[in-house]
Amino acid sequence: MKLYPLFADLSRRAVLVVGGGVVAERKAAALLAAGAQVTVGAPELTPRLQRWVRQGRVAHRAGEFSATWLDYAWLAVAATDDRTLNARVAELAGLRRVFVNVVDDAELSSFHVPAVVDRSPLVVAISSGGAAPMLARRVREQLETLLDHSLGPLAQLSARLRKRIRRRHPELAARRRFYTELFTGPVAALLRKGQPEKAAAAAEQALRTVPVEQAGSVVLVGAGPGDAGLLTLRGLRALNEADVILHDRLVSAEVLELARRDAERIEVGKQAGNHHATQDEIHALLLGHARAGRRVVRLKGGDPFVFGRGGEELEFLREHGIPYEVVPGITAALACAAHAGVPLTHRDHAQSVRFVTAHCRESLDTLDWPALAQERQTLAVYMGVAGLDRLQQRLLAHGRVPSTPFALIENGSRANQRVVIGTLADLPERATAHMVRSPALLILGEVAGLAERLAWFGAPPLDEPAPVPSRLRPVQTAQITREPVRRRA
Ligand code: SAH
Repeated sequence: MKLYPLFADLSRRAVLVVGGGVVAERKAAALLAAGAQVTVGAPELTPRLQRWVRQGRVAHRAGEFSATWLDYAWLAVAATDDRTLNARVAELAGLRRVFVNVVDDAELSSFHVPAVVDRSPLVVAISSGGAAPMLARRVREQLETLLDHSLGPLAQLSARLRKRIRRRHPELAARRRFYTELFTGPVAALLRKGQPEKAAAAAEQALRTVPVEQAGSVVLVGAGPGDAGLLTLRGLRALNEADVILHDRLVSAEVLELARRDAERIEVGKQAGNHHATQDEIHALLLGHARAGRRVVRLKGGDPFVFGRGGEELEFLREHGIPYEVVPGITAALACAAHAGVPLTHRDHAQSVRFVTAHCRESLDTLDWPALAQERQTLAVYMGVAGLDRLQQRLLAHGRVPSTPFALIENGSRANQRVVIGTLADLPERATAHMVRSPALLILGEVAGLAERLAWFGAPPLDEPAPVPSRLRPVQTAQITREPVRRRA
């Protein structure tokens, strides 16, 4: 069955709905929203339909269905639970050349009602011609997440300006460029930020000025901890619109994979130790690309405002008059806690949580140790693998109990996640024994004791000291491994 797609103007046109139950009510509501003059025909009506009849919003025909109900109708909907009656409505409507939809019966219907994504005045309708309604619904859900709600206001704005845009840019190519800029540039961004007045002003401004050079912009996007499923929809949209992506080393390949194919990708990976040297270069790159009129995405692991130097980058952009947006991401502490089964707060164990970084001796010196050592609070320590022994010594010196549990999460949320658990007393030894590597996050506090019971993702937590790796074993053992390997029969 091949259907002809159609958007019908039903305003002030008569439509008959046969049936008085909840399905009929739903159909009537949608028809009323489109401005139709709805008549409901059924012996009994739902309370809401009755109210609409009393209010004069809907006309009512009581009693048994008769062909005369179809007089003057442009469309009919059969929404009763009586198949025979539905079939009769369909047949009589057909004889009178009235299009009919029989709810949940594609064959009897002469028109179908599609699944809809509504960003009025922009509307996307999806139909599988009745063949696979579940699939159509799924596509609708996917589109629903892809199409931002600001598309409605954007379509309204572009409708309002349409004639003037045509006058201003009589040539098709120029007009197309103007629209592309309108739909993807600062006007669209302002609408997404919920600033319709500013968006309208920016559109007016764009209509007045001759575009010599396209204005660039920067979106600071949090890529989350690695699993692409943890990127936000808004982050995904920014990646789809980017001309250039400046990303950290921590950003996973899986997330980068989602970006626009032809976007230029630049890794500005920073290793611990040479931060200051490269931050200036990053600033220069941001500025250079934005000034060249490109849409730049600055993609950072986790959240850009948690130990990500996002603040400094924004200050720099503001100073240089480059417009920017920020899209938050799931920070490592939240992702690691979730994927290790460690609730960061818990009524019985911890009333507060602190995000701490401890990547070098100086940063350790600036921390408030007496406060950090307090019980019933959780510490989430970023960038701490190298300084675990110093961290342990200071916490113990300030009175945190040696039996305080910890969970050390390496590659949190990724396929190769490892979780090492133990107590503060043996923290550095455990980490060394299991050769924990960056990126790893330490969660220390009473809540970490729950990891063993609540773990659900990846391999179970490692709570034993690791076996000594073979290359470190005594010679004797090494000789044994050198024996000829016996083949299995
Ligand atoms: N802005 C980032 C943090 C950057 S600092 C965020 O919000 O997550 C880098 C540190 O984050 C790493 O040294 C490590 O401690 C932590 N980290 C980032 N991703 C991680 C992951 N997938 N698993 C464990 N720790 C991670």
